[in-house]
Amino acid sequence: MAEQAAANVGRKMSASVAVPRSLDSEVQYVKGVGPRLAGVLGKLGIFTVRDLLFHFPRRYEDRTRFARVASLEHGETATVRGTVITADNVQTRGRLVLTKVAVDDGSGVIVLTWFNQKFRKDQFLKLRGKEVIAYGAVQTGRWGVEMASPEWELYSESADPLSSGRVVPVYSLTEGVFQSNLRRIISGALDIFVSLVEEILPEDLRNRLDLMDAREAIRNIHFPESDAALEAARKRLVFEELFLLQLALAMRKHGMEAPGCGITFEMPSNFEEDLGQILPFELTGAQKRVVKEIATDMTRPVCMNRLLQGDVGSGKTAVAVAAMLIAVRNGYQAALMAPTEILAEQHYLNISRLFGNLDMMGIRVDLLTGSLRSKHRQEVNERIASGQTQVVIGTHALIQEGVEFHRLGLVIVDEQHRFGVLQRAALMEKGLSPDILVMTATPIPRTLTLTVYGDLDVSIIDELPPGRKPIRTHWKQIGERRKVYQAMRTLIDQGRQAYVVCPLIEESEKLQARAATDLAESLQHEVFPDLRVGLLHGQMKTEEKDDVMTAFRKGEIDILVSTTVIEVGVDVPNATVMVIEDADRFGLAQLHQLRGRVGRGGEQSYCVMICEGNSQDSIKRMTTMSSTNDGFVIAEEDLKLRGPGEFYGTRQSGMPGLTIADIFRDIPILEIARKEAFETIEKDPNLSNAAFARLRRDLLKKYEAFELVTVS
Ligand code: ADP
Ligand code: MG
Repeated sequence: MAEQAAANVGRKMSASVAVPRSLDSEVQYVKGVGPRLAGVLGKLGIFTVRDLLFHFPRRYEDRTRFARVASLEHGETATVRGTVITADNVQTRGRLVLTKVAVDDGSGVIVLTWFNQKFRKDQFLKLRGKEVIAYGAVQTGRWGVEMASPEWELYSESADPLSSGRVVPVYSLTEGVFQSNLRRIISGALDIFVSLVEEILPEDLRNRLDLMDAREAIRNIHFPESDAALEAARKRLVFEELFLLQLALAMRKHGMEAPGCGITFEMPSNFEEDLGQILPFELTGAQKRVVKEIATDMTRPVCMNRLLQGDVGSGKTAVAVAAMLIAVRNGYQAALMAPTEILAEQHYLNISRLFGNLDMMGIRVDLLTGSLRSKHRQEVNERIASGQTQVVIGTHALIQEGVEFHRLGLVIVDEQHRFGVLQRAALMEKGLSPDILVMTATPIPRTLTLTVYGDLDVSIIDELPPGRKPIRTHWKQIGERRKVYQAMRTLIDQGRQAYVVCPLIEESEKLQARAATDLAESLQHEVFPDLRVGLLHGQMKTEEKDDVMTAFRKGEIDILVSTTVIEVGVDVPNATVMVIEDADRFGLAQLHQLRGRVGRGGEQSYCVMICEGNSQDSIKRMTTMSSTNDGFVIAEEDLKLRGPGEFYGTRQSGMPGLTIADIFRDIPILEIARKEAFETIEKDPNLSNAAFARLRRDLLKKYEAFELVTVS
């Protein structure tokens, strides 16, 4: 009732007060919205008329027909319409209350159920004899046909033509507003305000790509006139969203490639010879190609912004070293940033060893991490500032905590997905515009190289060093552990070494270390008393970790029990078996990274994942891991299971969310939008042509915080 009153007030106001007719007007001036409802809409992010018109439906329901309860099948998602018969609460064993509401559609009875929402009983008892619509997943079983926690609304044909007899929009809601309310409000707002929506896409582009006009698209996305109109409306709005994003990416890329922005390195005269001395192997064809791509970028007078993708073990370090060599020989410094201290240490050990191979004109490598003692840190800082140190390896603290470089020319970022893209901007803000190489072992699916990483050039190492055999991966149940240990022993008897990765404990590092210690002790005393079991975890001191790693590398440890600290960087070719306990606690990408620690030599390697597989999700992960070694396949699967936001943190990347485009489903539109945007910026870098005026305004507004747009 309060709502009704509020709506009346709203109506009175709109009648008596001269309402500003603008898309930026507050939403409470829309017919049917008063101050109370405006507050509720605010929770949905709707503050202005524009927000309301751009609150697109989450899905649609075809209410020209409904599913028959009698023909529903288990597992299908359906919309049914029927009469409320009765409602009751049932106590379950786990002290939960289950509300059951029986609804009859003439063909049969379906039971709608809710957990722990006692109030539903009274709510539905009041609706006895009334018709409702329910939407959800159907379960059929011992208790007949059920729908758990369905979306539902009251159905009243005569009263509400917006909610019946047509394809009906279904919106995201919040407490205090119903579907039918929102449909009425949006429909009313469309009538009055849609004529104010401006067309931002140039006409020539719309004609060429056959894109629906903006107003028609907005109208049809809410209340489609036909399936074809809905499809066309969606295509237009998806295109617009992706086109803006791609324009922003193109402008940013263009800005960074402005002549004079970067350093023009020269190819060092003894490059090949020096590299040959540094690396104990020949580069693979793929590595050579990628080094060339990088060298080409570095020798151009613009900033390099390149993403280097290569599966675990593909040899990205060698490529990084080659790039560092170019920078250093030109009198510049190179910095490598790793996401964790352990990985930084690993890189440091590895890379300083490699540069140590150069007998003449040695290159000084330093490690700078947060855990360095302040005195030592001071010394390192001084060497960096004076230019004595040419290569610095550390965590991202390197660019954050006022480290003064003498002459920074190259930044290599390892494992991009844990860094924000914005950190690149941070560097530039400091007045530094080094060449930037981003390395990632997690192959980045195409969807993301086109969006989150859309302003980077991409190099791919698609070849493993010679002589590698594909890792064989098996999934075993907990009951089969004894057999797994036997197989491990057989391999160790043949002279191989093994990793055992202990279960992931997310609560605390301390508990994690404890678990690893316990596992190592029980393996040593109860299972492998005659073998040498070692232990590695994140709570150990740096020197302890180094000692253990050195011993393992030298073959003085047979079995290394470890936490995920070995996920990245550890490199012992003789270790050919990895057992992962409670494997389903790990995500796909992480499992793949872990597995990459074996299969680094010429011997056949194995990865055994132990777990029960208690959910659909974990079964999917285990079967994916056992069926493929292809990092791209795994990354795509991971992305599907977790969603792009989770995977790479679109928020972290500073990329505004996409409201209607779906970067999996809409790849074809994404590619067109990208091509059009990059061509547009190529021709008109600042969008100064009059046809782009509105587009440019909206672009700046939307991507201001993204620091993408460098319009002068
Ligand atoms: P990534 O960082 O891509 O996972 P690494 O750089 O750690 O891979 O290299 C993996 C292993 O392969 C290392 O032991 C490295 O020495 C070796 N390696 C790299 N490139 C070659 C090559 N061209 N030939 C032989 N071994 C190589
Ligand atoms: Mg690596």
